[in-house]
Amino acid sequence: MYVIINFLEKIKLKRVPIGSIGAQSVSLPIIEFGSGQPKGVIVSLQHGGELSPLWIIKDLIEKSEIIQGTATIIPVANPFGFIQGLRNEPIDGKNLNRQFPGNDQGDFTARLAASIFKVCQPADFVIDLHTFSRQSPFLAGYNIGNNLSLQDQAKKIIQLLKPDIIWKVNEGQGDDKRFSGSLDGALAAKGIPSVFIEMPNYQAIDSKMVTRISNSIQNVFNNFNSLEIDKNNIPEFKAKYIFADQAGIFEPKVSLLEKVKAGQVIGTVSSIPEFDETKITSSVSGVVMTIKGNDVIRTGSKIASIGIN
Ligand SMILES: [Zn+2]
Repeated sequence: MYVIINFLEKIKLKRVPIGSIGAQSVSLPIIEFGSGQPKGVIVSLQHGGELSPLWIIKDLIEKSEIIQGTATIIPVANPFGFIQGLRNEPIDGKNLNRQFPGNDQGDFTARLAASIFKVCQPADFVIDLHTFSRQSPFLAGYNIGNNLSLQDQAKKIIQLLKPDIIWKVNEGQGDDKRFSGSLDGALAAKGIPSVFIEMPNYQAIDSKMVTRISNSIQNVFNNFNSLEIDKNNIPEFKAKYIFADQAGIFEPKVSLLEKVKAGQVIGTVSSIPEFDETKITSSVSGVVMTIKGNDVIRTGSKIASIGIN
């Protein structure tokens, strides 16, 4: 037996049809609560195995009465990836977060992206929730592309979120071109400020972190329209990835947010079955943004991201 308390009074649920597969119709569930300004859209589970945002959304719904404005939430942006626990959209085998602004006459993933993009259009701001498989702080990032005038608005959202560290992406340049087609980049091209949040995944996140992130999002809704924002000096970095040359069991030797120098050992890999230990060093000086915990890795595994200025 179970009881649903006040569910329908608190939030509205609608489903945006995407199409059909076999005998099943596919739709995107969207929940909404509150009224008036600001209008914020929260997108979650673009990557189907990144589950922590579901706990954040539950917490936000529980405090919906004390949130200002209108919250529109896409809890499961990648419905089949969610079922299968996959990062990519499994029908087309594509990364949904590289398909924006989408195409409502394209393949299934492009149509999904187009529907998500449409839901984001009337927003004053968009927050896109992700997790890392590596150890992760509360990280917020923005991707303004070529629209430099959006930078202040994206930064305002980030000041209100108060994350541990800021990841600055410009998908128009250099290594960051790999992010081309992201939701944030496509929204920036349309002049809509958006930020993404990265957090530990569901086996690693604790309830304190869930509450902290949900309170931060609440703070964005409640203060988005205020002119006075506390300026805080949260460090801002670009990410440099460190990949493994070896395979075996990985053990980290540095902690999140620790400063490291180029050449410093950040972890070890012990081969299987010999258990020969090899040291892994950072190729750059910077701050540990993410690093794997104890894990089994292969050649080419992404071990860490180092924040560089
Ligand atoms: Zn993700």
